[in-house]
Amino acid sequence: MINVFKFGGASVKDADGIKNLARIIDLNREKELLIVVSAMGKTTNALEELTKAYFGQNTDIQEVFSSIKSYHESILLHLFEDKSHPVYDEIANAFVEIDWILEEEPQDDFDYIYDQIVSMGELISTKIVNAYLNFAGINSKWLDARSYIHTDNTYREGIVDWGKTRKSIEENIPALLSGQVAVTQGFIGGTSENFTTTLGREGSDYTAAIFAACLKAEAVTIWKDVPGVLNADPKLFPDTVKYEELSYRDALEMTFYGATVIHPKTIKPLQNAKIPLLVKPFLSPLESGTCIKESNVVITQPAVIVKNNQVLLSISTQDLSFITEDHLCDLYGVFAAEHIKINMMQLSAISYSACFDEDVRRFPKLLAVLGKSFRVKYNTGLTLLTIRHFNKEIISSLTTNKTVILEQISRHTAQMVLRETASF
Ligand code: ASP
Ligand code: MG
Repeated sequence: MINVFKFGGASVKDADGIKNLARIIDLNREKELLIVVSAMGKTTNALEELTKAYFGQNTDIQEVFSSIKSYHESILLHLFEDKSHPVYDEIANAFVEIDWILEEEPQDDFDYIYDQIVSMGELISTKIVNAYLNFAGINSKWLDARSYIHTDNTYREGIVDWGKTRKSIEENIPALLSGQVAVTQGFIGGTSENFTTTLGREGSDYTAAIFAACLKAEAVTIWKDVPGVLNADPKLFPDTVKYEELSYRDALEMTFYGATVIHPKTIKPLQNAKIPLLVKPFLSPLESGTCIKESNVVITQPAVIVKNNQVLLSISTQDLSFITEDHLCDLYGVFAAEHIKINMMQLSAISYSACFDEDVRRFPKLLAVLGKSFRVKYNTGLTLLTIRHFNKEIISSLTTNKTVILEQISRHTAQMVLRETASF
């Protein structure tokens, strides 16, 4: 049966990482494997920076670009001693494609250009990984995800056309996986006009889930730099606990509220197709990790999710009349049109509050539109704290010495907006 493995940027950040990836593939030779890979290390951030520099015609375009090139080159040099290996040309050609874009004055829409440039991170990383697997004696084929993951033209947030996607994947991929593995890009898709789209930051997990669902795979394994899904971010909290097993439901809720271990869109297609998702440690591939599946297991260790960089917006009508369903309809319409996702909201008689991630491009537009019909006040730089399967003790211990400015408690989930960028 087919298995889908996904390796994130942190796993393939250097030559050692790519060698370790090859070792993991080697350990799983008995499986039919589709391998989904992200851009290397922090390449996506760097390409984002490049896109912004290009768009603003900043002076540092070439500087940013050359650091991206030399980063990849140094990985190549560590993997392939022989500089006449064809992968060197392949990667150079990929960079020429970016050069072609940079040479023109920016005319198109920012989101469109972003996708054409930023997607190169995955195209390049997969070429390197594929070449290295073959070099290491593992037959591997490079696949262009844009021919399989079909999206509309919502650039930076491509909406998957499941019908077309399923058809392309079902018809073509299974036959490719006999006697060889296949390596493809996470995060990217293609429109019906053959333009490149991206699926939203950290979207490679979602790509793995799409392929798995369409292939009715046995399981998806996401290889990470953590032992599995932990109850809190180990970078913020000293004592974390790993979950051995999680229900799809708990995993969905955790990702929705900002647990970054898995992309929020990943679980649903897997849950619908009843495909387990394993989260395993990249550096200890024989450990059990966490298994997310159909399960009645109730987690006993509360899950703590911290989201910084939040905006809390309060909206009231100009004449302080009650907020009605008609207003809410308008408000949601504006948020949807500006592609701003609400993390938490609350309604009172004359005011509506929403908490969401600050996006420096989208937020001013949202303010401008809302300001035409409503009174708007807001705070930025806040933290949203979510505790799933909370208890009183954990709420009080995490909010001591902090100012809670909005709070919402339901049966399984407590959420608090904190005034300060929280440290715990
Ligand atoms: N490289 C993309 C990003 O960093 C996608 C991913 O890593 O999943 O957002
Ligand atoms: Mg990444």
